Amino acid sequence: KAAGRGCFRYYEPEMNAHAQLRRLLQLDLQRALKANEFVLHYQPQVDLRTGGVTGFEALLRWHHPERGLITPERFIPLAEETRAIVPLGEWVLRQACAEASRWPGGQKVAVNLSPIQFAHGHLPSMVATALRLSGLAPARLELEITEMVLLSDTEATLAALHELQALGVSIALDDFGTGYASLGYLQRFPFDRVKIDRSFIRRLGHSRESDAIVRSVIELCAAINMATTAEGVETEEQCRILRAGGCTAAQGYLFGRPSATIDAAALQQS
Ligand code: C2E
Ligand code: MG
Ligand code: MG
Ligand code: MG
Repeated sequence: KAAGRGCFRYYEPEMNAHAQLRRLLQLDLQRALKANEFVLHYQPQVDLRTGGVTGFEALLRWHHPERGLITPERFIPLAEETRAIVPLGEWVLRQACAEASRWPGGQKVAVNLSPIQFAHGHLPSMVATALRLSGLAPARLELEITEMVLLSDTEATLAALHELQALGVSIALDDFGTGYASLGYLQRFPFDRVKIDRSFIRRLGHSRESDAIVRSVIELCAAINMATTAEGVETEEQCRILRAGGCTAAQGYLFGRPSATIDAAALQQS
């Protein structure tokens, strides 16, 4: 009993401080959207056969006036809890489409979607509006979803994905290999592309298992007409192994970090 009480006293202030910080950030998200504190950084996506930059992934950043630059892993879960991710995600879509519509090289833009946007966002009409307002050709927009999107309400999700593809946008499965039941999803959902998670790419060339897994995923995807993107490519050796295995595209620090300004040369190519 005494120990229990001791634990209670020890943890309570800490939990409260943590909960308070979360609450502050949650309230602040709504203010920040109005105050224009969010920006998109762009990371190049490279075609491994030609070496050309074929697109950029939009990655959200929060320039907080007091806390500085906050990365998405810290605030997106909070925004999902309060559903602030719905208006925030809509801002991301519109901003990414508007910016991409001005890229002279006509590259694609990839936008990440949260599961909450599927459940509460009337997503297909939100996407159609972003395309219409920006004038971006639908074929230049790729939407990235994770397995988390597929876990709940399968029928509604499948219908939304079909509606999105009917608009002419493509769908990529992000972080492949980190969740469960992945193979079943490949059969059931109409992905255009599979992004192989960084955790597998990191070990390429140092683990025979990783080499074999990545090679098999690439072959499997090719056989069912899905393109593959390797995430988090940092070394020439990883790049060489991926190219030899037939991987179609790659993204990672080797080719460029996410950045607020895109290299003009990269924009002209393709
Ligand atoms: P993600 O979609 O899988 O994005 C890839 C993450 O890997 C990015 O982190 C990127 O900066 C990082 N990365 C890219 N190349 C390398 C590399 O070579 N090495 C290493 N170590 N890391 C690399 P970031 O920008 O912090 O984003 C983290 C996650 O936050 C994203 O993972 C995505 O799930 C989520 N996210 C970002 N922007 C948005 C958004 O607008 N909406 C939603 N719903 N989620 C977003
Ligand atoms: Mg992504
Ligand atoms: Mg990913
Ligand atoms: Mg991720």
